[in-house]
Amino acid sequence: MRIETLAIHAGRRIDPVTGAVSEPIHLATTFERDEDGGFSRGFEYIRDDNPNRNSLEECMAQLEGGYDAVAFPSGMAAIVAAIEALAIEHPGMVLLPDDMYFGIRSLLNETQFGRKLDVASVDMTDLSAVERACKEHMPGIIWAETPSNPLVSIVDLSEISRLAKSVGAALGVDNTWATPLLQRPLDLGADIVIHSLTKYVGGHSDMMGGIAAVREQGQHLDELRAIVKHRGAVMAPFDCWLALRGISTLPARMQVHCENASKIAAYLEAHSAVTRVHFPGLQSHPGHEIANKQMRNFGGMLSFEVDGDRAEAMAVVNALRIFTRATSLGGNHSLIEHRASVEGPSTMAPESLLRASVGLENVEDLLEDLDQALRVISPKP
Ligand code: PLP
Repeated sequence: MRIETLAIHAGRRIDPVTGAVSEPIHLATTFERDEDGGFSRGFEYIRDDNPNRNSLEECMAQLEGGYDAVAFPSGMAAIVAAIEALAIEHPGMVLLPDDMYFGIRSLLNETQFGRKLDVASVDMTDLSAVERACKEHMPGIIWAETPSNPLVSIVDLSEISRLAKSVGAALGVDNTWATPLLQRPLDLGADIVIHSLTKYVGGHSDMMGGIAAVREQGQHLDELRAIVKHRGAVMAPFDCWLALRGISTLPARMQVHCENASKIAAYLEAHSAVTRVHFPGLQSHPGHEIANKQMRNFGGMLSFEVDGDRAEAMAVVNALRIFTRATSLGGNHSLIEHRASVEGPSTMAPESLLRASVGLENVEDLLEDLDQALRVISPKP
């Protein structure tokens, strides 16, 4: 089956009791034992297993082309578990990209787990810099994020995988911004892929979840399962159900996100009040060729730098009427944020940069909204 069909059918079954075409939400915390004390129906206790979680995991494993997938209550929980699980067979340093989701930097600075990690960071778009970092640090794990947050840079996953293999490192990839519809890192050599399901997969800014999909059976998969069961990092059944429902419409939604973002990026690139647009669909983007090679489309995320500084960027955000001032991404509503103020003093985002999650509204309305907002700093379109 093709991925659009898998998005609707993988992991789903008609309810055997009622014939319901949408799986019921199973809130039961415990399940009846057989007379001999066994669990022939496969379920014992909600922390171990839940039908909605199983369906979500099966579906995401198939979409990512993985052996299996393990759900977590958030994207961050999936990232922490993935790093811990990979470190069993691949101890040592974790090599991180210098542009990545800010939550990982906060994890490193603000938790005991993070402070204990041995980490180095590198510009992952620069393959010779990655090669040098590999030789210098001999990392156990390389962590990649592409497109990256917030600069929307593109990492060549096949090449990073080759470099990882050359030093015996495992490769983990955060595929949240691309989704399996646009990019499948396991096919390109990654060992583990994570998602924040809170974003495009859920798709409506109303649920939270995470998932780690693995290429192969092994100790890292067992560890992911053990983290869920014994540390209790369990995704709730209703959130699993919402995520699975989101996946059904993910292919159709991604198409509109991508089309809208492409049109907006082209408009912004031609605008006199915009000095730079970060969107891999633009020919001018340094990662355009790689994105063309490894992605099916260019995604719904873009950032742009306005002509000015923080004050001008804030003025534009505050003048927008349809884009909502809010963090996060991947939902039906268009969102925009001044990333430097969201990330705080240690940010690497330029003060003039705005990050937009382009939603599913009519793109003409979004363009008109940007047009009137940019007039606040430049009367010329
Ligand atoms: N990975 C990326 C790329 C993200 O953008 C985010 C959140 O913004 C996360 C991970 C963390 O996800 P969650 O908020 O579900 O923990």
